[in-house]
Amino acid sequence: MDRIKAFINGRFQNSDGETLIKINPVSGAPIAEVEKTDGALLEQAIQAAKIAQSEWSSLTGQERGQIMMRAGRMLERSLEELTRLEVRDVGKAWSEAISADVPCGAEAYEYFGSLAATIIGTAHKWADARGFTERVPLGICAGIGAWNYPTQIACWKSAPALAMGNAFILKPSEMTPYTASAIAEILHKSGLPPGLFQVVHGDFSVGRVLCEHPDIAKISLTGGVETGKKIIAQSASTLKKVTLELGGKAPLIVFADADFDLAVQTAIDANFYTAGEVCSNATRVFVEENILGKFVEAMKEKTEKLKIGDPMKEETQIGALISEQHLQKVLSYILIGKSEGANLVTGGERQFPDGCEGGFFISPAIFVDCKDSMRIVREEIFGPVMAVLSFNSESEVIYRANNTPFGLGAGIMTADLSRAHRIADKLDVGNIWINSYNLIPSDWPFGGVKQSGFGRESSVFALESYSQVKATYINY
Ligand code: NAD
Repeated sequence: MDRIKAFINGRFQNSDGETLIKINPVSGAPIAEVEKTDGALLEQAIQAAKIAQSEWSSLTGQERGQIMMRAGRMLERSLEELTRLEVRDVGKAWSEAISADVPCGAEAYEYFGSLAATIIGTAHKWADARGFTERVPLGICAGIGAWNYPTQIACWKSAPALAMGNAFILKPSEMTPYTASAIAEILHKSGLPPGLFQVVHGDFSVGRVLCEHPDIAKISLTGGVETGKKIIAQSASTLKKVTLELGGKAPLIVFADADFDLAVQTAIDANFYTAGEVCSNATRVFVEENILGKFVEAMKEKTEKLKIGDPMKEETQIGALISEQHLQKVLSYILIGKSEGANLVTGGERQFPDGCEGGFFISPAIFVDCKDSMRIVREEIFGPVMAVLSFNSESEVIYRANNTPFGLGAGIMTADLSRAHRIADKLDVGNIWINSYNLIPSDWPFGGVKQSGFGRESSVFALESYSQVKATYINY
């Protein structure tokens, strides 16, 4: 069994208390003991972060940027090692993790490193005075992560925080502890000072201590809606800044004039990538009535060809779900969908791939004859379960697409760009993709509205959210 420890002040450190067991999603077997970071160790992390942040923020942006870009290159060089850990942690397909997760994390360090020297303020002039504003760091920021994209979450949250001159403490999900500690070690070896990027481990109770700690200035959560509400409440007594990346139930709107093959493939990718464990996935697929039958038939045929199995095999496209409990939740939604009157055209069955019989696999499911009132259409399932709905008019589909408490993403497939713009304008979401889906380069903001949260990951908007404005007025 592996033993996973906190990374504090430039080294792995033991915690004397409780350990949590990490289960391999592919085999169902325990693979690691995770040392839950105790209070004394957490205090050490805070003290180390204070010292590191004071020195780091006095470097020039260019100096910080150079170190971060070097860190990005080192993450790139660690592609295979980190990918192996990501697959072990999450159970997602190697083919995905090697091309998306780790490259995306490295890109965040290079992108925000390149921005660090560009952070500037404003100058103001009055008859008998001058003034200037600066964007200054918040201090110590903490990230609390979900289990579906642990490498990406670690880098997306820490890179803008560090570029701005903050120190960062990460608590990854207790379900996926592997990559955070490995990333911390890589960043340290690439020249990041001790105490600047630290990792603590544990469940909600460690997260709560971070939220309540008076020396932490900001919490950035990626997680569920209910957790988001708790984070706000827990952070209230110290009036922390909070950003929340929460759940979703995104619509993909497919018009009859769309490029048919592209639309079919987009709907499949937007539902079954990472075995459906993606917050922005377009799990409500609205198809224009006159192409519905043909569209469903084409999706069914392609979906049944997806290769489910050992994530380490290059040909695997659908890996395991994160846990037995999560698998059972997803399976229960299959039953709910059937009992509500939806028709399952394919998938939705537990799978036992060769060599991975103890793992948490399910075949990708497509439900048709869905109604907006059904639970499988309203609630986030966070697994490979697509609900197909049909529509006849623009105004109708806009109303139905918006008729949800979530507002993370939306997709529009059409050859008519005027129509795409018209609809995009009316959708209450943070991210819209037209004739594509789920593309998020580092210089592009990502985040939701309504109960999908607030604040943005990536882009200059993320950088701003790790800073505050300081204004100096000089009277002549
Ligand atoms: P979760 O909310 O159960 O846990 C997320 C993190 O919060 C974990 O690290 C957990 O330990 C911590 N946590 C839980 N309760 C806490 C508390 N009271 N105080 C402090 N920390 C606490 O979510 P999950 O099951 O890990 O992930 C799935 C959810 O995350 C889904 O709803 C999904 O949509 C969402 N998600 C959102 C995005 C996004 O960018 N919007 C990305 C990935 C996942």
